[in-house]
Amino acid sequence: PLTLADPVELHRICVCVRKRPLNKKEITKKEIDVVSIPGNGVLLFHEPKQKVDLTKYLDNQVFHFDYSFDEDTSNDLVYRFTAKPLVKTIFEGGRATCFAYGQTGSGKTHTMGGDFSGKAQNSSKGIYALAAQDVFLLLQQKRYTDMDLCPYVTFFEIYNGKVFDLLNKKAKLRVLEDENQQVQVVGLQEMPVSSVDDVIKMIEKGSSCRTSGQTFANANSSRSHAVLQVILRRRKQLHGKFSLVDLAGNERGTDVSSNDRQTMVETAEINRSLLALKECIRSLGQNSEHIPFRMSKLTQVLRDSFIGENSRTCMIAMISPGMSSCDYTLNTLRYADRVK
Ligand code: ADP
Ligand code: MG
Repeated sequence: PLTLADPVELHRICVCVRKRPLNKKEITKKEIDVVSIPGNGVLLFHEPKQKVDLTKYLDNQVFHFDYSFDEDTSNDLVYRFTAKPLVKTIFEGGRATCFAYGQTGSGKTHTMGGDFSGKAQNSSKGIYALAAQDVFLLLQQKRYTDMDLCPYVTFFEIYNGKVFDLLNKKAKLRVLEDENQQVQVVGLQEMPVSSVDDVIKMIEKGSSCRTSGQTFANANSSRSHAVLQVILRRRKQLHGKFSLVDLAGNERGTDVSSNDRQTMVETAEINRSLLALKECIRSLGQNSEHIPFRMSKLTQVLRDSFIGENSRTCMIAMISPGMSSCDYTLNTLRYADRVK
């Protein structure tokens, strides 16, 4: 199925979908799998029109993405076709960005932060660590050793429109924009790293600090965006930046079981930032002069990602294939479809 010319090489924006396997609970409830991936980036969403007889699929919606990864695809393979081709962008002085989008429980953190289908989360098997590994490999190549590049890592969270440093006791940070529209997160810790192990330690430290709401009875839901950045500096000057973003779940306010005020505020903010993100990525794709990055804190902080000659973005939209998630899944597919 993965035989297309590498779209990330050809386009500034690559949009992919990853379907996770049905989980134990879904299998126990004999949930129907509503998604099939026949190959060549095609994805079929089977809409069960008759809720009574769930085996009757009267409608197939067809989507086309740069890649559609089925439930048997490993993190390694997803990485190879999505974030990996972006690594050299930062050596060329550009900005690379990779987003994991989707509802809570669809596999965003599994994909970015590390495979946790085993006993414990394996941080070395997520896109964060795999990207870091390639950064260190390239740093050793002759053409780059001469450039005197130094790698650093930042890891922060955006929760309710506020930025918190995950590598510094969740210190709340201010975001400032200067007269040249350069955006700065004031006081964000930039940790020097000298090996993949160093990066993995940061991932583990930061991940354990993340805010997770108790909104969903059955899930450790993430109501925040987490941003890990691998930064290359050349004689202290910023050279390249790779932002790897584990987005907040895209659930809608009306779907939330406990409708307290806090949750509604959170949800409104998440919706706003995901809408802003869509608009900004689209602007990047259209080489538009106007990037509406001020629409949300997320896009403001990632302003660099949407601007400049050498900016490349990849979005991986995660989907849960079970019947009970079909509304969310369709939302995710439509969002991903419109980003391009
Ligand atoms: P999210 O971050 O989107 O809320 P998680 O990454 O926490 O979702 O995934 C939810 C659960 O599903 C985890 O227990 C994870 O191990 C499992 N999971 C997610 N994606 C996969 C996958 N591709 N293969 C196997 N298990 C997965
Ligand atoms: Mg998560």
